[in-house]
Amino acid sequence: MNISITHATELKTKPTREEEASLGFGQRFSDHMFMMNYDNGEWHDARIVPYQRLSLDPACSVLHYAQEIFEGLKAYRTDDDRILMFRAKDNAQRLNDSARRLCMPEIDVDFNYEAMRKLVQLERDWVPHNPGTSLYLRPTMIGTEEALGVHAAKSYLYYIICAPSGAYYKAGLAPIRIRVEDKYVRAVRGGTGSAKTGGNYACSILAGAEAAKEGYSQVLWLDGEHLKYVQEVGAMNMMFLIDGKLITAPLQDTILPGITRRSVMTLAREMGIEVEERPLSVDELIAAGENGSLQEAFGTGTAAVVSPVGELAYRDKHIFIGDKSVNDGIGELTMKLYNTLTGLQWGRIEDTHGWVTDIDKD
Ligand SMILES: *Cc1c(COP(=O)(O)O)cnc(C)c1O
Repeated sequence: MNISITHATELKTKPTREEEASLGFGQRFSDHMFMMNYDNGEWHDARIVPYQRLSLDPACSVLHYAQEIFEGLKAYRTDDDRILMFRAKDNAQRLNDSARRLCMPEIDVDFNYEAMRKLVQLERDWVPHNPGTSLYLRPTMIGTEEALGVHAAKSYLYYIICAPSGAYYKAGLAPIRIRVEDKYVRAVRGGTGSAKTGGNYACSILAGAEAAKEGYSQVLWLDGEHLKYVQEVGAMNMMFLIDGKLITAPLQDTILPGITRRSVMTLAREMGIEVEERPLSVDELIAAGENGSLQEAFGTGTAAVVSPVGELAYRDKHIFIGDKSVNDGIGELTMKLYNTLTGLQWGRIEDTHGWVTDIDKD
């Protein structure tokens, strides 16, 4: 399918180098977006158009029954002004995995990559320059059938918007405080936890708000059945270095299969670290914190890359991780993984895994 391009007649003002430092995340959007529609069993009208509001019928299915899936990935500017993407086809693949769970239509992975690439090529001046900044891409699919009734919609809209985003850590990596959630759950067996769908977030907002009131930046979810096994945090998978082994929850239908998670597991193994995907109970985790065998803990996700955890709170227990007097409490492995992954993403380390694509070449 051909992708048509309609250029915006008036361009927005791009952030200056000074403004890039305070861009935040997902606050501003570029001049163009990709769109295509699905009707009568096929995708059609693939187009790049000026960034615009959507016009939706109030009865439209996404607004009532939450048939929505999304992705999140970044385009990175290298020191020599090439624009790279990181494992973008993996995002396209995962979008299809989410689509199947939500009874939504799939999109050819290569075509979807081409759509992202064409859009970023057109928006290349929107990819910010300052260290740690990037152009965040948000591919989104929604059900647009104009009728009530709970069933898979017959029509869909797929679009991709781009948001220039600031460095996640303005002053270097900073350990976060996390509360283990023992009341609300995010995902249950047989549910939609492994799909990137808005509903998973809607049901998590209250827990996040209650934890934020007590000064925690994230909640660590436990499994929905026994409230016993450690799952993941808001938009990050979790890894724990216990007795020299890196432990993360196994992929089941309650865990979002993070691309950063997968990348970190590969890199850690290459660094000689044993990686275990296995159920980790909160009791084992707290015990490891208390007996000193919990050496490091961090979240992994596209936005933060690697996010060190400095404190875990579970009921009345507080586990402190890392020695604040050494590298601000950031563990050696956490730091090494962060540096390696960001080195690959910004093209400073040679990519031997085939993870990085250059939007002008690949
Ligand atoms: C997107 C997301 C992640 C991280 O996935 P990445 O591909 O590494 O960005 C982890 N957990 C949840 C719930 C997510 O939505």
